[in-house]
Amino acid sequence: MHKRIEKIEVFTFERSRNTTYLGDLGDGEFALGDSHVVRRFNGTVYPRFDRSVVLRLTDADGATGWGETYGLVAPKAVAALIEDLLGPYLMMLDPGRPDATWDALYELQRVRGYWGGYLADALAALDIALWDLFARSRGESLQAALGRPGVGALPAYVSGLPGASKAARLELAQSWQARGFDKVKIPVSHSDDGDIAGEFDSLRRGLGADQKIAVDVHWTCSAEAAIAMAGSLAPYDPWFFEAPVASEDIAAQHAVGRAIACPLALGEEWRTEWDYRPRAGAAAIVQPEMGHTGVTQFIRIAERARTDGAQIIPHATIGLGLFANASLRAALAAGAEAHEFQHTIYPENAALLEGAASCEAGAFHIPDSPGHGTIPNEDAMAHLKPLLTL
Ligand code: MG
Repeated sequence: MHKRIEKIEVFTFERSRNTTYLGDLGDGEFALGDSHVVRRFNGTVYPRFDRSVVLRLTDADGATGWGETYGLVAPKAVAALIEDLLGPYLMMLDPGRPDATWDALYELQRVRGYWGGYLADALAALDIALWDLFARSRGESLQAALGRPGVGALPAYVSGLPGASKAARLELAQSWQARGFDKVKIPVSHSDDGDIAGEFDSLRRGLGADQKIAVDVHWTCSAEAAIAMAGSLAPYDPWFFEAPVASEDIAAQHAVGRAIACPLALGEEWRTEWDYRPRAGAAAIVQPEMGHTGVTQFIRIAERARTDGAQIIPHATIGLGLFANASLRAALAAGAEAHEFQHTIYPENAALLEGAASCEAGAFHIPDSPGHGTIPNEDAMAHLKPLLTL
């Protein structure tokens, strides 16, 4: 068992990118300052570089655990919540199971309606670090601490085909297929003028009948438009249909889930099981994001979804990869069917970590090393800027 937490350090991780996430800027898209771009197809801000919030906890024995959460926008918001509230309270709490600690920290402001957003992101970073410390102190891997010891392989799907033309995108998909990756997902924006059926036609012809091909609709449709789009893709046998309607529109999510033939996938923006509960039955696939949920809520969402008959295929966001490795191990413990592979982000940043899972021949290969298995290496420290020490 770990001892009482005595030190909390918060950093921003920042690294420039060679490839703009989701590809080069298109018509009507624009830069927001030096750091961000706004995409036309869904009005969402994306960073030009990789950035996350990284956190290290040290207990009274000097043992450490590492966590990570979103830092795409306003990383200081997460740090402020840790500085003002969550950190001091965590250092007062008796050490125990990390899920009990998550509940205690969440309890502080639940009656005021602080149920998600940046508050939950801060909780996620702390929770991942606490689980890391907890498992390491027992000399076991995170998956073992969650009830599934041992190494494992988790099927990976290639996420995004950032190419300027249909031919270039197919060529990229074929190059991954040649390396053993038989699953791919495209965002609606990776198509010519939004012709997603044409894109599926090209990919299905070029990749063959056995390739799994999914689409991320990026919240761009009404329920009616989503149902029509899914219908137009039916001849190409899509693997799943992700996030077609506004995140908050639960009625539309249920309407689409009932109406379409292929599995509806939801969940990358959820923070807690409370986000899942009203959507139970709508999503045939849930996609918890470790950077938002932490280990505690990731597992609670996965367990509920499994009971409801859904598959688990976690989301992978932009970051250093501590949360990605925690996600792989929690996914293994939860019996996930597959995991998203951000091929433009994960391998490059995994080189900044000791102990990261590799992704080769269509699968993540997950070691059984203690905790979530990853620690920033010396090269990573050049990309970590201190934000806060408690
Ligand atoms: Mg998505």
